[in-house]
Amino acid sequence: GNQHKVEANVLLLGAENVGKSALTVRFLTRRFIGEYGDIESIYSHIDKIDGREISFNIWDSLYPQSCETTESISEKQLQWADGVILVYSICDRSSFEVIRQQVQLIRQMGKLSASVPIIIVGNKRDLQHQRAVSSEEGRLFALSADCSFFEISAAETYHGVLLVFHELLELIKESRALK
Ligand code: GDP
Ligand code: MG
Repeated sequence: GNQHKVEANVLLLGAENVGKSALTVRFLTRRFIGEYGDIESIYSHIDKIDGREISFNIWDSLYPQSCETTESISEKQLQWADGVILVYSICDRSSFEVIRQQVQLIRQMGKLSASVPIIIVGNKRDLQHQRAVSSEEGRLFALSADCSFFEISAAETYHGVLLVFHELLELIKESRALK
């Protein structure tokens, strides 16, 4: 058939050092490098799902230096995004607090963005001995905030990262069908 091209703008948010860039690079290259630097960028990536080409644009954001004076999410970012991935580290409780605030902020920032699909990702699952946020707590928070939830290790596997992007694409398609 003559299927139209699907495009999805994905915004990655969350505190510093949680693995946003690791997750992005895993999705783009299937590889884990270890060091990513502090670069804010939008990457384009074509993925084939069920024989269909999906064009992903991924905005790997930087958490602002001083969050008391700046909002941690800009209007521009939210207007751009079709879907949001909120990343925290399971071994950093303060990063979990950051995504709790960011969910609230997203839901508050206007009617249009109120319905943007959000996936909450607890990353660094390989560091079990340093765990500071239980799976249960992550899952319950996501449920209460009407978000999907995954725990993954960008360092260990590509598979979990792939599942996150595919689930988000499904949610984006659903939200478009409702409009
Ligand atoms: P960002 O600031 O959120 O973009 O975080 P980065 O992607 O730069 O990752 C921060 C640090 O955590 C880097 O040293 C990564 O190698 C490391 N890292 C990222 N994901 C994982 C993971 O799943 N497990 C472990 N052990 N380290 C990770
Ligand atoms: Mg980064």
